[in-house]
This record gives sequence, structure tokens and C-alpha cells, in this order.
Amino acid sequence: MSSGINQKSIASIPVKVVGTQAVRSSFHWKRRAVQALTTMLVVLIPASGLFRIDPAVGGFVVFDRQIWLSDFFMIAGLWIMLASGLVMLYSTAGTVFCGWVCPQNILAEWANNLTRKLLGKHVEVSLTGEAPRVAGAKNKIMNWLLLGAAFLAAAMFFALIPLFYFYPPSLVWSFVTFQDEARLAGSLHWIYTVCVLIIFLDIAVIRHFWCRFSCIYRVWQHSFKTKQTLHVIYDASRADDCAKCNYCVTSCFIDLDPRKTEVYDSCINCGECIDACNRLHAKQETPGLLSFELGERIQKGGNKFRNAAVSLFARAGWMAPLGALGAAMFVWGLWSYEPYHVVVYRAENQQGHSTIQNYRIAVSNKLYHPAALRVRVQGLPQGSYTLSAADIMLLPVGRESLTLSIAQNLPRGLYSIVVDVAAGDGWTGHYHIQHFSEQG
Ligand code: SF4
Ligand code: SF4
Repeated sequence: MSSGINQKSIASIPVKVVGTQAVRSSFHWKRRAVQALTTMLVVLIPASGLFRIDPAVGGFVVFDRQIWLSDFFMIAGLWIMLASGLVMLYSTAGTVFCGWVCPQNILAEWANNLTRKLLGKHVEVSLTGEAPRVAGAKNKIMNWLLLGAAFLAAAMFFALIPLFYFYPPSLVWSFVTFQDEARLAGSLHWIYTVCVLIIFLDIAVIRHFWCRFSCIYRVWQHSFKTKQTLHVIYDASRADDCAKCNYCVTSCFIDLDPRKTEVYDSCINCGECIDACNRLHAKQETPGLLSFELGERIQKGGNKFRNAAVSLFARAGWMAPLGALGAAMFVWGLWSYEPYHVVVYRAENQQGHSTIQNYRIAVSNKLYHPAALRVRVQGLPQGSYTLSAADIMLLPVGRESLTLSIAQNLPRGLYSIVVDVAAGDGWTGHYHIQHFSEQG
């Protein structure tokens, strides 16, 4: 507690930053660029059609194609590829996802910065009930209103993003402009309102408390960390430079002391402390005392690049083949994807005293545009069967069911029947059935 007060009082000492700040704050701006790119990708992935969920059928959609469980290779390949890539990331770069990519951290950092700008740099959101220390000159109703309006606008914007995962952009636009649209869920405005309230609460109050005390995903990432995982190291041989300074500590929004990082601490490898120390030392044109290191913690000196490369290859040795297998399965799944699905099953009816043997031909369109299909039957003599329709028009992701009726006077014997289906786009599909006629 006393160290926290000490940190805060030291944090209040103005730090003069010298002219090479932009050059020395390299991690900060790289991180901002990655965060901006991530936010764009989170919207672009569903909006471009690369991936979304169809709430009507509860299935996945990739580039306007419905993905069924029967598209096993595509689904399994994608998950294996993603899982092995993420495990590689966790074990090499640790919880870097939190610091550079996670939307929760992006929002929390943005909210902290805006709060300091409008209410003073010592204002802190506390769940302990401690009142925020608002700067006297900034404690104006207009500043509070501006802060609330900015948080509400951000909550309204971020609550829209999940909609892109369930609806195409044109439908999201209909929702935003209050147009009547039957394809939107009737309760969508209520769901959206609840999302806005949750995000507003998160931005205004919860912020990094979620990361520190509630995030299960962070715990999951931790389970892959080792002593070799990317971490901050401290040059203790120059510890004299740290007398009366803890600028790196006050720069850490996770409240860590970057000079004493551990394997399983909360560090998210954001690099803000490294930038801070580099800025302090820029005037003397010497590097800061903090830097990133990939490799064994106790290993000092030696060839850092070699250590990092060895460490990376050691991990790649067991995850890369799995990732390659996933990629191969995914590509195979894409290549062998069937846009239409045909299945034929027996449906016998009693009509009066005679038995007519019927087969049901169920045809499905897995694409999000209409499709014209032609159905043909082979393996039966002409005039011995009727088909309820030969040419059908399927709606986007629509289904149709045809009936194949076989005459009862078909000569006794076993018939190999093939139901051929051809689409206007060149696709052809076949379904084989064996039919035994007892009549004759
Ligand atoms: S590591 Fe750098 S920023 Fe941190 S206390 Fe030492 S000199 Fe200051
Ligand atoms: S110790 Fe440094 S790298 Fe780790 S979270 Fe804190 S500021 Fe970021």
C-alpha cells in the first residue's frame, strides 16, 4: 500500500521528455497501429463475408457459403490451424495478445487516457469505493458530460460490431437506420440496448479490473508460458540509474514493477515501460535499462538472436506440423466444397389396394444466391417412373423435395438407379440407390 502511495507521489513529478521521444516510443506507436488494424479486422472479417454466423440455421458462413458439419475438413482444418497458431503465440510471446490485440484492453486504455485528459492525470477508477481525484480546474460539468457522451458513443459503436457476425452489412445498415426488415430478429433492438449498457459499464467502471481479476482467457494463455517466453529484462548492472526513479512503474497500466517480472505475472508485453525508460535515457544517448528478451531467463550474455531462434525452433518443432496439417485440411475442404446437397430416401405410400413405391429426392442450396437445378433419373426403363419436377429453382440457402414414383408393374429384379442433379453453374451431383421390384 505504502509503495503504491510512493509510486503515485513520484508519478506526480513532471518528467521532461527530450526531443527523440518519437523515435524512442517505438513500441507505443507500433502497438497503436496493431490495435487499430485489429479493430478494423474485427469488422472487416464478417463484413467482407470471410466469416459470419447465420442465426436462422445456427451455422457458419464463409464467403456466402453455408458450412455444414459434413464439410468436416474445412471446419477441423480451420480449428487445428488456429489452435496451433495460438499455442505457438502463447508459448513464444506470452500474453502479448492482451497488450497488442485484445479489444477489452483497447477500450480500457482509451477510457483511461480520455478520463485523464478531461478530469486530470491523477484520476483513477477504483472499485474499492475510493473517490476519483479529479483536478480542481477540470472538475466542470461540461467535462463530465463530454466524458459520458464519448463513453456512450463508443459503447454504441462497439455494440454494433457483433451484429456484423450475424447479418450482412446491408442488414446492419437497415438496423441502424430503423428500416423495417423481416430478416432482422424482432428483439434485436433490445439485445443491442443491453449490449450498449454492458459496454458502457465496462468502459466507465470495469476497465482493467476485468483483465486482472476476471479474464479466463488470460489464465488459459498463462498455462503455455515458460521461462523462455518473451519477457522484459532489467539491466541490474546499471541499477544506480534507478535512484529516485520509478518512471517505468508508473508507465505500467497493469501496476507491475517491470524491473522484477516473473514467469507467471500479469505482464502483457506491451513495451510501455521499455519506451518510458528509453525516453529517460535519450538525453544521455544511452539505451534504457529495460528490453524484451526471448529465451532462458537465467541466461545472460551470449548470442541473443541465436537464443531466440533456438527457442522459436524448439516450439515450432512440435506445433508447426500440426499447423501445417490444419492448413492442408482447410485447403482440401475449400477445394472439395459441395455447394449443393442431394439425398434420396425411400417413402412408400399405400394408395387403395396397390402399392406405389416412392422415393423422396431432397435437394439443398448451400449458397446465398438462387440456383437453377435439373434432375434426371437413370437406370429405370422409360415410362416406368414419374418425377414430380425435373427443373427446380432453389432460393438462397433454400431446400426442395421432389418425388420419384416407380410404377408397380416394373419387371421383377434389382435396379441400380442414379439420380443426377446438374446446376446452372456447372456443378453436378449423383446419388445411387438400389431398388428391388417384387412385381412383374
Ligand atoms: S528501469 Fe528506467 S524507468 Fe525504471 S526506474 Fe530504472 S531508470 Fe527509471
Ligand atoms: S511490465 Fe512493462 S511490458 Fe509488462 S505490462 Fe507493464 S508496462 Fe507492459
